[in-house]
Amino acid sequence: MNNKQTILVTGGAGFIGSNFVLDWLAVEGTSVINLDKLTYAGNKENISSLKNDARHVFIRGDINDRTLVEGLLRQYKPYAIVHFAAESHVDRSIHGPEDFIQTNINGTFQLLEAVRGYWTQLADSEKSVFRFLHISTDEVYGSLGPLDPPFSETTAYAPNSPYSASKAASDHLVRSYHHTYGLPTLTTNCSNNYGPYQFPEKLIPLIIHNALNCKPLPVYGDGLNVRDWLYVGDHCEAIRVVLAKGRLGETYNIGGCNEKTNLEVINSVCAILDELCTDSLITPHASLITFVKDRPGHDQRYAIDARKIELEFGWQPKESFETGIRKTVQWYLEHKNWVQNIVSGEYQKWVTTNYNTR
Ligand code: NAD
Repeated sequence: MNNKQTILVTGGAGFIGSNFVLDWLAVEGTSVINLDKLTYAGNKENISSLKNDARHVFIRGDINDRTLVEGLLRQYKPYAIVHFAAESHVDRSIHGPEDFIQTNINGTFQLLEAVRGYWTQLADSEKSVFRFLHISTDEVYGSLGPLDPPFSETTAYAPNSPYSASKAASDHLVRSYHHTYGLPTLTTNCSNNYGPYQFPEKLIPLIIHNALNCKPLPVYGDGLNVRDWLYVGDHCEAIRVVLAKGRLGETYNIGGCNEKTNLEVINSVCAILDELCTDSLITPHASLITFVKDRPGHDQRYAIDARKIELEFGWQPKESFETGIRKTVQWYLEHKNWVQNIVSGEYQKWVTTNYNTR
């Protein structure tokens, strides 16, 4: 194994993964092997600035392909795995759960098996440096009532959607590989992220895109479901901190201390658009809000108690919701082509003609 020179990231062409890879190379500067299947949610454009960066190697492949993963581990000898790859959209998991089982559960299992084989062969001094960091969600804890205390690391798992159930299963697999085989694992459970490069099926980019195109802004049910929101850059920093300092076998909750109803989020986005897009055909943008039939089994409230990561490592989010959401709206306004390439189907063409594996 090389001495803390290389990490393997899975899902590094997705929303959080690509932000993490860019952040890692800017801050840590050591090499990243980026393994991503490029599903509909993976987008090489997110990491196009790294095209000529020798520290970044992109491999198109599936975490279920154990032979591929074993070969990458042998070839690049990473000292850490940061595992983002997943099917991540709750609505898609309701319409078709199978891919979620295949990637989030089976894929994590195949990855763990490949990593276990690799780790077992390492010298003792290398074994102690090695880390497997599994990225997960607060949705594994289920739903809170309005007065319930936020989720802590000891909250019992109670996942309610096929997505959260598949993530819960993967968390348990990771936990079991630590307890059974001694694999040096870490797990983080984070609240809703927002920021650049988020696929425009998710709430905030969807609202921005629809508002700019004078389309209805769909709001599930009464819009009063509550989520905690964290700026993606803060999440990336927290992941680096846990990777460097986390205690083996532990889980760490990561949150933004920003509980908002969906309606509050949408109204914030609309107010910023009203201010920045004065030539818009429709103002106020909030007049486009349209209530639609609620998502089946829609969890009422998620909230995160992130005191453990703060007490142990002093980590706290830097962005308030107000600064983070303004930065985010500005980014989407400055990157209309990025969104357009996805929603127009141009992106699909771009994938087939432009991506190459190295
Ligand atoms: P995303 O859907 O934007 O990206 C997922 C990436 O994984 C894509 O690039 C996709 O191509 C890749 N991928 C999917 N299946 C794969 C497979 N079988 N093999 C290799 N690559 C595959 O997701 P995201 O929002 O960036 O989430 C990343 C991780 O963070 C997920 O594990 C998710 O559960 C977790 N998470 C997300 C949030 C959030 O708010 N987005 C919050 C907490 C935790």
